[in-house]
Amino acid sequence: MTPHTPPHIANVAPDHDIVVVGFGPVGSTLAALLAHRGLRVLVVDRETEIFPLPRAAHFDHEVMRVLQELGCADEVGPATILNPGMEFITASGEVLLSVHSGDLTPSGWPASILFHQPDLELVLRDVAERSGSTVRLGVAVSNVTDHGDHVMVSFADGTATTSTYLVACDGARSTVRKQLGISMHDLGFEEPWLVADLVLNDAADRPSLFTLQVCDPMRPTTLVPMPPPRFRFEFMLLPSDDPVGITSSESVASLLAPWMDPADATVERAAVYSFHGLIATEWRRGRVLFAGDAAHQTPPFLGQGMCSGIRDAQNLAWKLARVLHGTSPDALLDTYQLEREPQVRSIIQLAVDLGRVICTTDPEAAALRDAGMLAARAAGGGTMGQALMPSLPEGPLVALGAGGQARQPIIDGTRLDDIAGDRFVVVLRTAAQRSNPGVAFWSAQEALVLDADTTPEVATVLDAVHANAMVVRPDRYVLVVGSELEEPNPALRMMLNG
Ligand SMILES: Cc1cc2nc3c(=O)[nH]c(=O)nc-3n(C[C@H](O)[C@H](O)[C@H](O)COP(=O)(O)OP(=O)(O)OC[C@H]3O[C@@H](n4cnc5c(N)ncnc54)[C@H](O)[C@@H]3O)c2cc1C
Repeated sequence: MTPHTPPHIANVAPDHDIVVVGFGPVGSTLAALLAHRGLRVLVVDRETEIFPLPRAAHFDHEVMRVLQELGCADEVGPATILNPGMEFITASGEVLLSVHSGDLTPSGWPASILFHQPDLELVLRDVAERSGSTVRLGVAVSNVTDHGDHVMVSFADGTATTSTYLVACDGARSTVRKQLGISMHDLGFEEPWLVADLVLNDAADRPSLFTLQVCDPMRPTTLVPMPPPRFRFEFMLLPSDDPVGITSSESVASLLAPWMDPADATVERAAVYSFHGLIATEWRRGRVLFAGDAAHQTPPFLGQGMCSGIRDAQNLAWKLARVLHGTSPDALLDTYQLEREPQVRSIIQLAVDLGRVICTTDPEAAALRDAGMLAARAAGGGTMGQALMPSLPEGPLVALGAGGQARQPIIDGTRLDDIAGDRFVVVLRTAAQRSNPGVAFWSAQEALVLDADTTPEVATVLDAVHANAMVVRPDRYVLVVGSELEEPNPALRMMLNG
């Protein structure tokens, strides 16, 4: 493998390999993943404290797999509960659709987990610091200038620093995105909802064990059972509602009254959010990249906003590490938006479509919807498992037929990812395939090469993609599948080694 010239400044080495702007869940995950890979990371946040009130309540098995990589899955576990599933119901409580999600997924983690965002952020920040990231809190980034060979980062307190790359994880109102004049595609959904987080007096007395989407045209409502004693209600605002007055304790109590005795809980917060679907037109401009809410925002009906941001961090981390270690050319970073945007777009579109089903306020349209969904259920439909995320699209690092998350078996008591670390993994059906033409290339990339003759546990990884040979990327997505492992094509070689 020929080392690629690291993209450092000609005259003066920058102060940091990477500056991460924003220490929210995405910035802290990214900082930890990068520092784990030996990079010099500075992460900054304009606030000194974690955003105190809960936003995300759900994450999926892929996030759990990232937490596994960061070594904090056990730390996070006690503050979470399994989500048994979600039900869409009519105003009178008839079930229109059930989504079951209690099962283990091929990644080895449960499909759907409920949590309290500030608790998770506390762990992620701690991991980022333990991993060696330098953290500066209480200082806002005010200006970012790309000088071609480095980025100059200016802070509101008059100080400045330099880095080779910068990743803006500075949230929905991203200062960096605005400063660079990057616009957002609007997926055409805009609905105001009141979100009320409660602390129940009796943790066992939960209004629902399932996440409920109440498709009531008079007041579309969502119930989310967070880890006890917390419980969330979300109420869609109607044109007649006063968006300020509705957060008063009297208004919240009257909205809760049909579901529970409001005296049985304390309202931790009540806020009106506008749910919308937006995607930045550029996720990379030169040495500046965008991740998390700075790059995309989704209505929360699928609980996927933060999950998508953490997948951004996972996609970027191994690529930035290869580029900064001089193994791969800067062009590798151009695959980031190519791979992430189509997946994010289809998740947001699904959330928008679901939102339209839930947010129907025309009684006639709601009756037609209910009749159609009830008929489908009577005919044997109306039940589904938690869908796995869409695959990454075909591209330089994803061959035709690949792009899904690889299965994660346990080998001699250890999960495969823990054995693989930050490496590609080659999985072969037989030991004889170690002489396949492509194996030497992947060995030179320091890939972990396993065959099912020697390690029978990996046979299920191949079975899942109906292949006898495959390569898994460091972010656990499948790069290529086949009957034998062929020599990689020139585009892939160029992307990985320049
Ligand atoms: C009601 C609601 C429910 C949700 N439910 C879910 C769910 O169930 N599941 C899910 O996955 N997602 C959910 N989300 C979305 C999720 O909360 C967000 O996607 C997630 O918080 C985004 O993380 P982030 O790190 O990208 O941004 P943020 O969490 O917004 O963090 C950005 C950080 O950048 C800092 N910052 C901003 N500007 C600057 C600057 N100039 N200089 C320095 N620092 C700066 C901020 O202080 C902040 O700490 C929900 C959101 C809402 C509102």
